[in-house]
Amino acid sequence: MKEQTLAIHAGYEKDAQGTMAVPIYQTTAYEFRNTEHAANLFALKELGNIYTRLMNPTTDVFEKRFNALEQGGGAVGTASGMAAIFYAIANVAEAGDNIIVASQVYGGTTTLTGHTIKRFGIETRYFNVNNPSEIEALVDEKTKIILFESITNPSIDVADFDAIVAIAKKHNIMTCVDNTVATPILCKPLTLGCDIVVHSASKYTTGQGLAIGGIIVERENLVEMIKENPRYAHFNEADASYHGLVYSDLPLPPFTLRVRLALLRDLGATPSPFNSWLYIQGIETLPLRMKQHSSSALEIATYLEAHPKVKSVNYPGLASNANYALANKYFPKGASGLISFEVESKEMAQGIADKTEIFKVVVNIGDSKSIITHPASTTHQQLSAQELVDCGIPAGLIRLSVGLEDTEDLIADLEKALS
Ligand SMILES: *Cc1c(COP(=O)(O)O)cnc(C)c1O
Repeated sequence: MKEQTLAIHAGYEKDAQGTMAVPIYQTTAYEFRNTEHAANLFALKELGNIYTRLMNPTTDVFEKRFNALEQGGGAVGTASGMAAIFYAIANVAEAGDNIIVASQVYGGTTTLTGHTIKRFGIETRYFNVNNPSEIEALVDEKTKIILFESITNPSIDVADFDAIVAIAKKHNIMTCVDNTVATPILCKPLTLGCDIVVHSASKYTTGQGLAIGGIIVERENLVEMIKENPRYAHFNEADASYHGLVYSDLPLPPFTLRVRLALLRDLGATPSPFNSWLYIQGIETLPLRMKQHSSSALEIATYLEAHPKVKSVNYPGLASNANYALANKYFPKGASGLISFEVESKEMAQGIADKTEIFKVVVNIGDSKSIITHPASTTHQQLSAQELVDCGIPAGLIRLSVGLEDTEDLIADLEKALS
């Protein structure tokens, strides 16, 4: 089936009531047929619902539908994008290990990898996403995952998938792509040789800024690279916390299964069924919306580039952009809705953000409503001056998340604010 059809139907078979819309299974627990049935479910001899911290029928549709769009081999929903990223790391790395992360990532990912997981004994080594050859020197036998964003938020760089994947494959290390900004509509990293995709479902997935959520998707046959790979020994050894289960021996997607059975079980950042239902509603129109976000953003970027008060515009879909060739190669259907542009000073940037009326001052992206952000005073305020430079955020930088309003109205709004 084609993408727009999958977006509307994948993962849902009508229940006994013939319910056309996916129902919200608002429940904590599930009744077992008898104790033997319960025992079989816990032992994975039979698959089925046990408890909503682990699985839920509404969340299951969200997972299957997203998995279909990413062309993955299995997916697990989480309570937020940050939970998805943390679980993807915690699923492979432990104290004494290291991970390799692009410097240009979401602010929460910077603080998670640079500070929080350090206290768990996991070291982060950074590479410049515009220079993937730096990865080579950072790899050792304790390296567990290479994490980067397909289109980076907020610096709006573009990852060179082929270059990163080549190094990862050489060393048999998993790659994990945060595909939040591109969405599976504009880019499917698992078809480009990547192993894991994570998303914040809080952004384009609901598309209306309705709920916090996340998802992890693994590629098909990931077990091939895990099996007998010393980097991932814990997938090949008996899990003492699950009566000796060996993840790589099961006919199930090992990565997301372990997130579910071990991390959701013990750490519990599960999406609520109601939120999963909102993501499902959003996914139905995701292919249509991503086209509009991308074409409107390209028009606005072209307008800004010609404006005398604008020092520079960063939008990968612009022919003048340093990443234009990569964007064309990896995002042929459009480069999503994020634009950043730089003006002379911090004060000027704040003045522009304060003057727009349709563009709202909000720290979010991927909403139907257009958003303007000044990263240096908001999302990236907690970063040091050096960290700001490292992740490419000058004080006069403004970020736009182009929504679904009429493009002419959006340009008029910016015109007024820039005058
Ligand atoms: C928002 C965002 C996150 C974090 O997601 P939450 O759902 O807010 O936890 C991670 N990565 C990127 C690229 C994001 O834009």
